Amino acid sequence: MPSETLTPAETPAAPPEAVDAALARIRESLDERGWVDDPKELEPWLVDSRGLYHGKCLGMARPKSTEEVAAVMQAAYAGGVPIVPQGGNTGRVAGATPDGSGRMLLINLARMNKVRSIDPANDTMTVEAGCILKTLQETADKEDRLFPLSLGAEGTCQIGGNLSSNAGGINVLRYGNARDLVLGLEVVLPDGRVWNGMTALRKNNTGYDLKHLFMGSEGTLGIITAAVLKLFPKPKTRATALVALSDLDAALTLLADAKAAGAGALTSFELMPGFALDWAERLVDGARRPFEETYDWTVLLEFAGEAAVEDAMQNLLEGAFEAEQVIDAVIAQSEDQRGQLWFLREAIVDAQNREGAQIKHDVSVPVSAVPRFIREAADAVEAALPGTRPYPFGHVGDGNIHYNLSQPKDMDADAFRAKAPALHRAVHDVVARLDGSISAEHGVGRVKRGELARYKDPIELDIMRGLKRSLDPKGLMNPGALLPDVDR
Ligand code: FAD
Repeated sequence: MPSETLTPAETPAAPPEAVDAALARIRESLDERGWVDDPKELEPWLVDSRGLYHGKCLGMARPKSTEEVAAVMQAAYAGGVPIVPQGGNTGRVAGATPDGSGRMLLINLARMNKVRSIDPANDTMTVEAGCILKTLQETADKEDRLFPLSLGAEGTCQIGGNLSSNAGGINVLRYGNARDLVLGLEVVLPDGRVWNGMTALRKNNTGYDLKHLFMGSEGTLGIITAAVLKLFPKPKTRATALVALSDLDAALTLLADAKAAGAGALTSFELMPGFALDWAERLVDGARRPFEETYDWTVLLEFAGEAAVEDAMQNLLEGAFEAEQVIDAVIAQSEDQRGQLWFLREAIVDAQNREGAQIKHDVSVPVSAVPRFIREAADAVEAALPGTRPYPFGHVGDGNIHYNLSQPKDMDADAFRAKAPALHRAVHDVVARLDGSISAEHGVGRVKRGELARYKDPIELDIMRGLKRSLDPKGLMNPGALLPDVDR
């Protein structure tokens, strides 16, 4: 399927001589590995991770230090050159993809990948923005600590990208989103000034908590260059089970019981439709569903903590069988079996990608409204395009459902994709009715700006635009991402 060129953002074009002067200054401030403009080398960085959108750029800066990022930003600011910050380029909303104008400069943080220090007594590590998430998990592990942020792209995404998009993942239930794991930040502002907010304090009531402005701002306010991250005790053991629910509503009662039984040890509670396990087994090498039967709904849940979590899981499931919340269950008996269950959870994503065209939504509603959302969204989608196959799964413990849709069986894939606006409207209207969010963890990027304009409170949008103007008066930071164009 060909990808779509992103429409150029409405950023005033700077005079060509100012751009040339800025580019010359930028190249001077970087070493020989710090600048890429060869079209072949640039190619992978100009396409989003879903392969749906592509753009063009003036070139890609690859700074290796905060000072180099600051020098690049100063020169770009002086020359009026728009910037697109980029981490691992795994984001799902094309926030790190330049538009089609060819006037933007990519700044990729991959070379800023040092762990600056670890303070086990303070349970913190200080890291640069380009560190790969998995490397940080391993670094914490070597210190007998846990860095709990965990998501499917962890082998490629960077902590700077995770913080800029306030990533979620599979451990939010217990540890919070990416923003909850941060004590301090270092940010290069659009004009090249460096804000050193690298505090390692757990209590600091001295005014506005500026770090939270930059986290979740998707590169529209500045470039995150480093962070002080929180570490946690490493769980001694885990208990992991896949259960088949008696019905969808049982997800909520089981979740409440699991929270109580685990006494704070519940880390994950992932809903999957039974047929998604069948698709995974059929379409993804190595995926094995542990049940003979295809149940309507299943949940993968995990406790992490001390040895007692195994007993807690056993007791929880015995109670759940008695209360008829659960009709089948397997408990992982080894690390290998645990790995297989989690592989199945990841495989359902690949499986859907292989079963025809898809239209995706990453939404949240209050946890208590999840079953109602799934039912009402199914009705809305069927009314909008009969035969569409809903494929809802995700982090039910956080009220976050990936409400994906697969094409009707006999429909042409492009004809189905052309229905995306109507299907987005059908799903997002249900979300809005239930006081939910049209983006739970993936952000807004260049893909959901129109939807943000429709569903976000106008006063909130005005405040966001005011903050943007005060930090980025020339509008050079990631234009076309996150904030809708239209001024109300
Ligand atoms: P990029 O994609 O490079 O950038 C993301 C945004 O941040 C862009 O707007 C970019 O401009 C900006 N940005 C990047 N670095 C910086 C920086 N240093 N300073 C300022 N702005 C910056 N997300 C979840 O939340 N939960 C999941 O469970 C999850 N699972 C995923 C599974 C797969 C297989 C994939 C491919 C993605 C998944 N994601 C998930 C998407 C998720 O948003 C990204 O994986 C990750 O958080 C983005 O990090 P990145 O380094 O790739 O950032």
